[in-house]
Amino acid sequence: MTHIVVLGSTNMDLVTYVTKAPQRGETVTGREFHTIPGGKGSNQAIAAARAGATVSMIGAVGNDAFGVRLRDTLEHSGVDTDFLRTVEGPSGTAHIVVDDEGANSIVVIPGANGTVDHLSPGDEGVIASADALLLQLEIPLRAVVAGAEAARRHGVRTVLTPSPAQPLPPELLAATELLVPNEDEAVTLTGRTDPREAAAALLDLVPEVVVTLGATGSLYLARGTEPLVIPAPRVTAVDSTGAGDTFVGALTVALAEEKPVREALSWASAAAAISVQRAGASASMPYRPEIDAQCTA
Ligand code: ATP
Repeated sequence: MTHIVVLGSTNMDLVTYVTKAPQRGETVTGREFHTIPGGKGSNQAIAAARAGATVSMIGAVGNDAFGVRLRDTLEHSGVDTDFLRTVEGPSGTAHIVVDDEGANSIVVIPGANGTVDHLSPGDEGVIASADALLLQLEIPLRAVVAGAEAARRHGVRTVLTPSPAQPLPPELLAATELLVPNEDEAVTLTGRTDPREAAAALLDLVPEVVVTLGATGSLYLARGTEPLVIPAPRVTAVDSTGAGDTFVGALTVALAEEKPVREALSWASAAAAISVQRAGASASMPYRPEIDAQCTA
């Protein structure tokens, strides 16, 4: 079975629904409150595991109740948590206020994620045994670079989601094979507003780029080949949270299984299209038989 390693964040999302978000100094009564396991690392690990891979998660949770639930959530989706450390202090949290217009404001407190600033003993070994390493930018950059460089040393494909968007150091780009920004991240990284131009500019930095374009689909560029435009299936979206993580997780599994690139992109698009038709981030992620069924439908 394909083995994917994810090095990244776990967060408890604390989501408050209000009619109108409070202004500075104001108190308002909210409508609903939910605690939802998240973090891009954890979400991508769950997406890849449900898409059919053996997945190991490298990261950290705090020694609090959230940490227990974050670990349980990963294990429930079949993710190996042997390399997910429990550290002294709080787990990462994202404090999200969503108003009636769907607009949100978010405060992220890294907590345990902030301690993942290096590779721990055993991490390089598990990376070396993988078919691909999935990275995002919600843990300290130093660890992301160390992970990518370890993967390169062992000939393991590195897939990077540059989120939250920030300047990428040359040593990280040099160790990245596939970069998967969404449209906003591609613009932030390149200053180009046209997705094709942004993807082309990113291709100067890494060998392969996929820019995800929401309901429009995705755009794939690799050096020396024609660009591929993959339209997204037309579906009624209920909640697009986690669509990007579902897409990246499924795409990485498909590529690691050596599916041809166009087929891998279509399969990932099918997975993401299923996820947007359901509420939640990781909760909405499909299992492999559903993805296969959507592809043949
Ligand atoms: P999010 O932050 O919501 O997780 P993202 O901004 O990282 O997502 P998007 O570009 O919005 O990423 O979406 C990723 C992929 O999910 C798209 O390339 C597309 O294949 C699929 N997708 C997103 N929204 C829709 C939609 N409304 N209908 C069908 N597919 C969608």
